[in-house]
Amino acid sequence: MSITHIEHIGIAVENMKEAIAYYEKVLGLACYKIEEVADQKVRTAFFQVGQTKVELLETTDPEGPIGKFIAKRGPGIHHLAFAVEDVAESLKSAEEQGVQLIDARPRKGAEGLNIGFLHPKSTFGVLTEFCGKR
Ligand code: ZN
Repeated sequence: MSITHIEHIGIAVENMKEAIAYYEKVLGLACYKIEEVADQKVRTAFFQVGQTKVELLETTDPEGPIGKFIAKRGPGIHHLAFAVEDVAESLKSAEEQGVQLIDARPRKGAEGLNIGFLHPKSTFGVLTEFCGKR
């Protein structure tokens, strides 16, 4: 596996509008895109910070993964995404080393990239995502 950088940090928010205002007005970052990922029952807002993005996540359904996360743990950091060359190969490599996967094979995420998640039980409590063009 070859990780090149942190692609993004996913942050679960209760109110996207208020969260965007904080990132824009207080931190001076510009939201360059808002995208709904129907599959994940989530609306995302992106901010570029160097090579890395901040991805705000607001649920579109209380039963979706972000809705459940907030109900259980409150808003805050939800996941860490590493940029990799090849998502399928990286998932396979992690699995071979005993890591429990959420996604056995890549699926489509925001921005048209392939994504795949590792289970936080196997990653010291951090929901971990691989993200890449392949
Ligand atoms: Zn993500």
